Amino acid sequence: MKIKAINGFKDILPDEVANWQRIENTARDIFRRFGMQEIRLPILEKTELFARSIGEATDIVEKEMYTFVDKGITMRPEATASLLRAYIEHGLHVKQPVQRLFTIGPMFRHERPQKGRQRQFHQIDTEIIGAPEPQIDAELMALGQMFLHELGLSVSLEVNSLGCPECRPDFRNRLVAYLDERQDGLCEDCKRRTRTNPLRVLDCKKRNCKQLVQDAPSILEHLCSACDTHFTAVQQQLDSLGVTYRLNKFMVRGLDYYTRTTFEFITTDLGAQAAVAAGGRYDGLIEQLGGPRNMPGIGFAMGMERLALLMEQQESHPTIAQADIYIAALGTEAISFSAPLVHQLRIQGKQAAMDYSNRSLKAQMKQAGRLNARFTLIIGDQELSEQEGVLRNMDNKEQAPFPLQEPVEILARQLEKQMAI
Ligand SMILES: [Zn+2]
Ligand SMILES: [Zn+2]
Repeated sequence: MKIKAINGFKDILPDEVANWQRIENTARDIFRRFGMQEIRLPILEKTELFARSIGEATDIVEKEMYTFVDKGITMRPEATASLLRAYIEHGLHVKQPVQRLFTIGPMFRHERPQKGRQRQFHQIDTEIIGAPEPQIDAELMALGQMFLHELGLSVSLEVNSLGCPECRPDFRNRLVAYLDERQDGLCEDCKRRTRTNPLRVLDCKKRNCKQLVQDAPSILEHLCSACDTHFTAVQQQLDSLGVTYRLNKFMVRGLDYYTRTTFEFITTDLGAQAAVAAGGRYDGLIEQLGGPRNMPGIGFAMGMERLALLMEQQESHPTIAQADIYIAALGTEAISFSAPLVHQLRIQGKQAAMDYSNRSLKAQMKQAGRLNARFTLIIGDQELSEQEGVLRNMDNKEQAPFPLQEPVEILARQLEKQMAI
């Protein structure tokens, strides 16, 4: 009996990895430009961390977390809580008042697996802690847009404000009053949410609920003056950076900790509308987790499964060349001669490959093709005795003799020169 992977836990095969690496490399390049530093975090945390940050009444904490109940620990369902826990634990704010951080890795949620959504999924998460200014919000969104643009993806940015503890309770009451009058039309989840987490009703995907909330009170009309000023400044800054966006008053995000600006990069290319990146400001969260008072923060996460799927959809298939040069060694003596040469080329930083199977020239040329080798050096026993191999440029099919009498160090250098031409 074959053992298979668990449902929702997926292997990322070598063919797919090319896109994953491109995503990671692009992210690291863009983060560098914005002065973001990497932080690496553990996968397991105390369950309490997520209950306190994400919120007890959220779908994530209520039913999606992988928890070892007897040990009181949970596999992280998102990155922000862990990152802030580390930030507080190590007092990072003492060293540097404004921290620009990112982390890349797997997260775990027990949801129904679907295309682009696994139970072990991967996120690129980025946070700026310690800066309350609206320009920071715009800068992060500009970063997200630059990254997605660099990957060649077309997505659109939607922005909302969720207010603050000053103005949200009043809005919440108005929303609950509105929903109370319309309970009959709401789905079962939303009936419950009206009591536990009424804002979530605004982004219910069910058609009836969607229609019912069209005329619900808008958070944007109930912001306190500080939140309103902040949100206006965010929009002005987005305009001045040339970032295009759309206001979406129904976007509430699934986590309790968000305040003020929230945003999503969405696409319609994956069937139903889907967010490939999302985040927002969480100005009260750090204090709530036992950190310094009045420490603001904002961040967002990008889903790597969806990004990879989107790249595939948009037919972006980078091929990774697995060899600069393949040495086709024919005969046992040629194999003995070639192995140190391959090793020397690797020392010099080249991708060099050969195999020891002593297969036919045809079979080995086929292998060179599979590896996308740019050059092949053919060495048989006869070539060896005449001290002259054949160097083949795989792009233009040109062949030239290649003298073999020097020691391998020198041969490797000569090959390098030939390959640079
Ligand atoms: Zn407010
Ligand atoms: Zn609903």
